[in-house]
Amino acid sequence: MRYFPLLADTRDKTILLCGGGALALAKLRLLLKTEANIVIVAPVIVPDIEDYVQNARNGRQHVVWDGRAFAASDLDNAFLAYVATEDAVEDQRIAALAREAGIMVNVVDTPDESTIITPAIVDRDPVVVAIGSEGAAPVLARKIKAGVEESLSVSLGDLVNAAAPHRARVAQSLDHRAKRRLWENFFDGAGEAAFSAEGANGIDDLIDRLIAADGIDKQNRGRVVLIGAGPGDPDLLTLKARKVLHRADVVLYDRLVDPRILELARREATFIEVGKSGRPGGESSWKQGDIDALMIEQAKSGALVARLKSGDPLVFGRADEEIAACDAAGVPVTIVPGITAAAAAAASMGVSLTRRGRNSSITLLTARDVDGFANHDWRRLSEPGMTFAVYMGIQAAKALRTKLLMNGADPATPAAVVENASRANEIVASGILADLTDIIHDSGIEGPAVILIGLARGSAKAERTDKVVIPFAEAIRLNGGSQ
Ligand code: SAH
Repeated sequence: MRYFPLLADTRDKTILLCGGGALALAKLRLLLKTEANIVIVAPVIVPDIEDYVQNARNGRQHVVWDGRAFAASDLDNAFLAYVATEDAVEDQRIAALAREAGIMVNVVDTPDESTIITPAIVDRDPVVVAIGSEGAAPVLARKIKAGVEESLSVSLGDLVNAAAPHRARVAQSLDHRAKRRLWENFFDGAGEAAFSAEGANGIDDLIDRLIAADGIDKQNRGRVVLIGAGPGDPDLLTLKARKVLHRADVVLYDRLVDPRILELARREATFIEVGKSGRPGGESSWKQGDIDALMIEQAKSGALVARLKSGDPLVFGRADEEIAACDAAGVPVTIVPGITAAAAAAASMGVSLTRRGRNSSITLLTARDVDGFANHDWRRLSEPGMTFAVYMGIQAAKALRTKLLMNGADPATPAAVVENASRANEIVASGILADLTDIIHDSGIEGPAVILIGLARGSAKAERTDKVVIPFAEAIRLNGGSQ
């Protein structure tokens, strides 16, 4: 290891930044994260740097600018020097003087002239992760950084700060093993959940509870999370959904949930398909009551239950019934939203769901409800300019078309059908309302599909990924890492 990573205390230190252009600006943004006094030496500075200098006068940050060329005496009080004059000869001269004076120096993008190099940094102050490649593969370092960024909650720093005051109490109350167990549980999601729900008080209560249970997190683990699995493409899953899946003990999923999403869950988890087929007439061995009972039984036995539903769990997902069942059983339940099919279908059509002057509202409706073909205000839906997305509408398309035309809808209203939105086998078929059934028939669409009425195809395309890229943090886990 030629370059040894260290964490240097910057409080009350002076960091010299030579240069006032774009390169210096990039370094300044990084240095502003420190607690150092930053002295910029440059004859001229770009307006953005000037803004920082101005703002620093009012704020806590200490940034000053000396509007002149570098002088050797600038190094006198410097702890560290960054050189970015954008003049190679001048950079070399300053670097040589700094090295001579025994001051750590970095010449931007020139490791040969530098005694230190700046790593890629993931900042969750007070937690920081530094990634270095000895300057040999900065692109790789940035890739790794992206993976680490993804795996660490944005509020991790706040969580660590909130936990700090409790360290002594925990150390006094528990033996070494129980203490370790407590902090493992704390940082394995329990802390984050308590913190996001109730802030510092939540942490206080959680620590009390964990101390009382010898570090074991009984209460917090046994719970249900209703998760939106999105329309199919695993890349459309939220980071939060991913995190819960990583930790879930039991995964209950609907049939429409893409199998590639299940791959993202913990391998040791128990997977149970509780779905209805998503198509009218499709038989289901699962009644809602059975699903509720299983979910509650698992959570009560201490399992973290991930209840995966396609799209968004709160859109035609019968989430309320499951939430009510959890409430009645005293099982904590939380929700992670997902991308609903209509949003994915609109992206596939390259058109926005609302537009000023065209439609200022969008209705999501289901063609089916408990009694079969759902009843709606057909007259209103048939008005000129109405825009709506129909879920579970393929079998009912003929009736839908008839109802709309009978109520005076313009037969030339744009109509589109998007099957398997966001998946590799996606079909987008479009035309006019009068031809709705032909559109479906001719394209061989059977569902799952969303019908969009009032929206014509646009020019943009949905961003596609055809394979699941396993991010760095996940790769570590799959290779038998810490979880
Ligand atoms: N909660 C889901 C909807 C469940 S109801 C959501 O928010 O998307 C099931 C209906 O959703 C299907 O009949 C179909 O109309 C629609 N649907 C689900 N996934 C879809 C997809 N990938 N493409 C198009 N429609 C989809």
